[in-house]
Amino acid sequence: MIEAKNWVAGSQSPVTARAEVYNPAHYDEIVGITGYSSSEDLEQAVQAACNAQVAWKRLGFLARGNLLFRAAGILEEHVDELGQLAAKEMGKPIAEARGEAQRAVAILRYYGGEGARTMGDVIPAANPGTLQYTTREPLGVVGIITPWNFPLAIPVWKMAPALVFGNTVVLKPAELSALTAYQMVSLIAPLFPPGVINLVLGRGNEVGESLIRHPQVRGLSFTGSAGVGQHIAEVAVARGVKYQLEMGGKNPVIVANDASLELAVDATVSGAMRSAGQKCTATSRVIVADGIYRAFATALGERVASLKWGDPLDPGTYLGPVVSAAQKEKVVGFIEGAKREGHRLLAGGGSIEAPGHFVMPTVFDEVDPQSAIAQDEIFGPVVAVVPVAGIEEALHVANGVRYGLSASVFTGSLKTALACVEGLEAGMVRVNEETAGVEYQAPFGGMKASSSHSREQGRAALEFYTETKTVAIRSIG
Ligand code: NAD
Repeated sequence: MIEAKNWVAGSQSPVTARAEVYNPAHYDEIVGITGYSSSEDLEQAVQAACNAQVAWKRLGFLARGNLLFRAAGILEEHVDELGQLAAKEMGKPIAEARGEAQRAVAILRYYGGEGARTMGDVIPAANPGTLQYTTREPLGVVGIITPWNFPLAIPVWKMAPALVFGNTVVLKPAELSALTAYQMVSLIAPLFPPGVINLVLGRGNEVGESLIRHPQVRGLSFTGSAGVGQHIAEVAVARGVKYQLEMGGKNPVIVANDASLELAVDATVSGAMRSAGQKCTATSRVIVADGIYRAFATALGERVASLKWGDPLDPGTYLGPVVSAAQKEKVVGFIEGAKREGHRLLAGGGSIEAPGHFVMPTVFDEVDPQSAIAQDEIFGPVVAVVPVAGIEEALHVANGVRYGLSASVFTGSLKTALACVEGLEAGMVRVNEETAGVEYQAPFGGMKASSSHSREQGRAALEFYTETKTVAIRSIG
């Protein structure tokens, strides 16, 4: 059975407390033993990262990139094993979990080449004998804090660019997916010089808090809930360190009267129900024009009612459990609240009697855009369908929430598509595509309360993991 430990200065390192991890799909199945660390463990990890950083930077982009390519190769050999572990630990259906592991491989390959690409400008200088240019410097030690819903892809999409640009890292993964993060790190960390990749398991309000406040940590990259993100921002501003936050969403799909009904239903089901709705980019509102409303709502309800829920390891399962008892309670609380408000159900509507944290895939009809299910991030398999009179009203409803991560529009009209691309307050707008699934080579991030307005992935990562240095060199003699 897997037993997670810390990874510090190039080797496994003990944790201070241990606990059994249960499969969210089978209450009685122990998946492994996770660990919790102290501030002293964190201190050792930061010191190791500090000690390694200058040599890592001096190694140069080619050697750093080659190590990322090698890490990709090792992870690729373990995609099935990592996918299985993620599926058992946090309940993601196996095809999605394998896909996530494969995505981590692709991200490592993408960033393996990134250090060789242009990273500055030559700028004319007033003196004709002076060469003036910009270059980029790593931040130093970067603290990486990640959520449980993408236990492989998110740590890797933060670590890979941090490393290739010459930073060393201390990763603090979410408590609920620490086994998977540990397994991934223990496969790739041995390839790197000691101290370049460090992992410290533990609670957010203990080791997470020590990490964000550590004076030698010069950058903080966080993905998680808006409340914790806000707190990290306050600490980072007070400390004067660079920070990056990716947080929640309340992602809308707009369905115009001229949409392909089949495509819009398919993409809504996939966007709302894969990973049991536990994606920051999951579809949670569908804003539908009145001419197509009833046909769309009926078809969506029928499709969602027919989805197969069950064991994430069964390839036929569309929908696994939610991650924990607390998450189930929260999601069912939203469903019960909406029912009390008089919202009508098109599918689902409660928890499932099973020895796991299962919630029925649920669709609510004719939802009031100001109600809790249309305003708050639920992070479960629940979608609200909202009727509107036309595109102008659709945009008004879509933008009427605090979040602005991802948004989609389904239409056959270029005019409508462009009006939505321009009018939607979202960091990622997709036309005739589901709200989830943004590719790793494209910038990822949100507007409003969804993000600290920086972007991750693709070339955008260079902006966060490095700082600009302006250089002027005057030739003499
Ligand atoms: P969370 O905020 O509870 O935890 C995220 C991480 O922060 C965990 O590792 C946790 O231990 C740590 N943490 C908690 N308190 C801390 C503190 N005081 N100091 C430092 N670290 C602390 O989020 P979660 O429940 O793991 O994940 C779900 C949330 O993540 C949802 O809101 C979801 O939308 C969001 N999310 C966003 C994206 C994105 O890219 N925008 C992607 C995935 C998930």
